[in-house]
Amino acid sequence: MTDPIALHATLLTIDTHIDIPWPDGPGFLDQTKRRVDLPKMQRGHMVAGCFAAYVPQGPITPEGHEAAYARAIAMLDHIRVMGQDRARVCTSADAIEAAHRAGATVIVPCVENGHALGGDISRLAAFAARGARYMTLTHNGHNMLADSSNPRADLGDGPTLHGGLSETGRAAIAEMNRLGMMIDIAHVSKASMLQAAEASRTPVMSTHSCIKALCDNPRNLDDEQLDALRDVGGMINITAVSGFLRAGAKPEQITPQDYVDHIDYAVKRIGLAHVGISSDFDGGGGFTNWRDAAECAAMTTELVKRGYDAAAIAALWGGNFIRILRQAEAAAT
Ligand SMILES: [Zn+2]
Repeated sequence: MTDPIALHATLLTIDTHIDIPWPDGPGFLDQTKRRVDLPKMQRGHMVAGCFAAYVPQGPITPEGHEAAYARAIAMLDHIRVMGQDRARVCTSADAIEAAHRAGATVIVPCVENGHALGGDISRLAAFAARGARYMTLTHNGHNMLADSSNPRADLGDGPTLHGGLSETGRAAIAEMNRLGMMIDIAHVSKASMLQAAEASRTPVMSTHSCIKALCDNPRNLDDEQLDALRDVGGMINITAVSGFLRAGAKPEQITPQDYVDHIDYAVKRIGLAHVGISSDFDGGGGFTNWRDAAECAAMTTELVKRGYDAAAIAALWGGNFIRILRQAEAAAT
């Protein structure tokens, strides 16, 4: 049998969704109490992390929009420098692969919640200029772009605001395609997700969701959604949030076996090429034996136990993400 620890050390491992402390917190370069910092990434051989400029949903008002945009820009500016000269900010598939060959640790900036645009899709160019490689269309709560999987009654949300995507949302997707950014459908409603898969010229992905057939949570994707991802060449990155893996489970009740059950389901349903790995560390993710970035090898160990070979594990840990990023880059105009 493959030695999982030796295999893990060779992989281009990409964690497709990680949050950062904001507005302040311990530095990225030091050993911290956070689940992700540079020392933990290096110990756990997490080569690349997609770090989110996360904007909470707030009021859809001019003031709310300005605050959201200012926060997103400030966070992206922080993400670009937090690794100083000890990690590389990479904004292309080629650059990520070159960094891996050079033994570097990689920061991939991204934006979580289209509310960050402040209602103005021309601002996507400002995000792309700061290296953002994907934007999640919504967070919890409807915004100007799309309906969320989790409407926020406290913000006045009903079950639906747009019936899926709005016209602004469709224009945002076209602009992201033009800029070579990927479209993240985590957090959006089923109607929004299916419409986004159809509207985008390049494959959409969920950067952090799980499987509804195994855990009935609004954040998870059902079989029809998984099939749609396969049909457009997209992917789901299974995430390490205990409540998405098993209903009501606490982090200490979830194991790598539970997590890989979701990987297995997706692989069987839509194929290996459409599945990946994410932690949502420092945003709710983490469980027994994958508590932080230092413990990434536990996932490789469980995948080897389940019979996945080296090529399959490389595809799950980063190869599939790189393929879709390259498709997004190629479609940019
Ligand atoms: Zn999220």
